[in-house]
Amino acid sequence: MNDKKIKKVVIAGGGTAGWMAAAALSKLLGKTIDVSLIESDEIPTVGVGEATIPTLHVFHRLLGINEQEFMAATNATFKLGISFENWRDVGKDYIHSFGFLDKGCWAAGFHHFWLKGRQQGIAADFGDYIAEHLACREGKFAVLANQERNHAYHLDAGLYAKFLRNIAEKHDCTRIEGKISKVNLNEDNGFINSLTLASGQTIEGDLFLDCTGFKALLIEGALHTGFEDWSHLLPCDSAIAVQTKTVTESVPYTRSIARDSGWQWQIPLQNRTGNGFVFCSKYMTDEEAKQTLLDNIEGELLNEPRVIKYKTGTRRKHWNKNCIAVGLSSGFIEPLESTGIHLFQKSILRLMLMFPANGIIQAEVEEFNHQTKTEIDYIKDFIILHYHLTDRKDTQFWRHCSSMAIPPTLSQRMSLFKESGKMFESSGDLFGESSWIQVMLGQGLMPEQYHPIVDLMDDEALTSYLNNIKSGVKRKVNNWPNHNDFINHYCKSLNM
Ligand SMILES: Cc1cc2nc3c(=O)[nH]c(=O)nc-3n(C[C@H](O)[C@H](O)[C@H](O)COP(=O)(O)OP(=O)(O)OC[C@H]3O[C@@H](n4cnc5c(N)ncnc54)[C@H](O)[C@@H]3O)c2cc1C
Repeated sequence: MNDKKIKKVVIAGGGTAGWMAAAALSKLLGKTIDVSLIESDEIPTVGVGEATIPTLHVFHRLLGINEQEFMAATNATFKLGISFENWRDVGKDYIHSFGFLDKGCWAAGFHHFWLKGRQQGIAADFGDYIAEHLACREGKFAVLANQERNHAYHLDAGLYAKFLRNIAEKHDCTRIEGKISKVNLNEDNGFINSLTLASGQTIEGDLFLDCTGFKALLIEGALHTGFEDWSHLLPCDSAIAVQTKTVTESVPYTRSIARDSGWQWQIPLQNRTGNGFVFCSKYMTDEEAKQTLLDNIEGELLNEPRVIKYKTGTRRKHWNKNCIAVGLSSGFIEPLESTGIHLFQKSILRLMLMFPANGIIQAEVEEFNHQTKTEIDYIKDFIILHYHLTDRKDTQFWRHCSSMAIPPTLSQRMSLFKESGKMFESSGDLFGESSWIQVMLGQGLMPEQYHPIVDLMDDEALTSYLNNIKSGVKRKVNNWPNHNDFINHYCKSLNM
């Protein structure tokens, strides 16, 4: 144990991660600790990261963020899922929506009933039984007091950081402008004592959050924590991002379109579209990737396409000595399921739960690292599933992905589902039953059996059970207005 009381927290870096941490720490713990954030106007943020998942509500609720204000300030639109196009095979699309499946019964989930219905020719598409899925297809959205729906947002990352900065500064977080040039360590225990800026100013602290993005100046540059490399499992290592003027109505979902050696994203905001292409440099040059992206976007370019290089993997420890990595400094999986911001938020919330006010306890550090690593490993498996479980054999990249060795935890889940139709949620797994099933079915993994309890229902009862759920979903979504119309009425951007 290091019994130095934690009074002063220093956040290094002011991208999405830095300002999320600053807003949360200053608002929730600001009365007992001193929070400061160092960022440099000379070093730009990575400038991507605009699609989120529904867990962001937890963070916003804690911070007391009003949805309409936040959306108007960040040009946000609603997101109900992701449309995966050409992933299973060229021309075959599916949606991974945020919706939950109907309950089924105590012994077998809804999909077992659907599987039998499908065999009997009486079931519709799986997505017809999930309101969020149908609403994606129909471009609809509503916030209604008496109706549940599971949604997230597409947001402008720069405006989001600015929005959070306002909250942080209102709660007395001090912003320090400057470039960190040196990390000063305590010679006895290797803990970080202070950061020296290019101006010569020294900032001392008790606890440091490394939010310096891919640079990982503190956690790796100074503490040499080590990195677990996942390039053999997630081979994409580059992205090109560009923004365009919006030319069509914004849809309530992210588009993810598989291409020859990677995939393209389209993220609709109120005023523009965020576009990008994630690719594997082993199979495609930057120039080829740029051309692929430019050939497949609509609307006037609002900036120059920018190449971002990365390595997939995770820091060996997310909390090391008195430094916690939050954001890209902690590692990077892949933007495919928009899990980056979620992981930042989880690390911040985990830190709140384990805040070491009276000194750093090693057992707490280990618990933090264990929980973080467990969650990341589940997400990693879920992302690999999309690449590996494909019928695509048309390019070297897809042949590699479909034949590569995958973690045993993932092959076990795939075999269980294929052979028995069973899917069990694991504690600590961000993606629940509904997500795994939608993606496995969407990528073409059809179970060979359903649970025998389904046979207790005769064909007539099964037909009416399935039809009732489907018509309930249809009725619900029919009442929702067009997504664009709803945004204009509910949270029109303040920046247009
Ligand atoms: C291609 C791509 C797409 C992504 N898409 C998504 C997505 O859709 N959804 C999602 O949830 N996540 C996504 N992510 C992950 C992540 O959410 C974003 O990348 C996010 O913007 C990263 O924020 P960050 O704060 O960690 O890093 P950055 O934005 O890079 O911020 C780093 C900060 O550190 C500062 N800094 C660095 N060095 C110094 C220094 N020496 N002195 C002072 N300051 C310094 C910089 O000025 C900056 O303020 C994506 C990532 C990539 C690479």
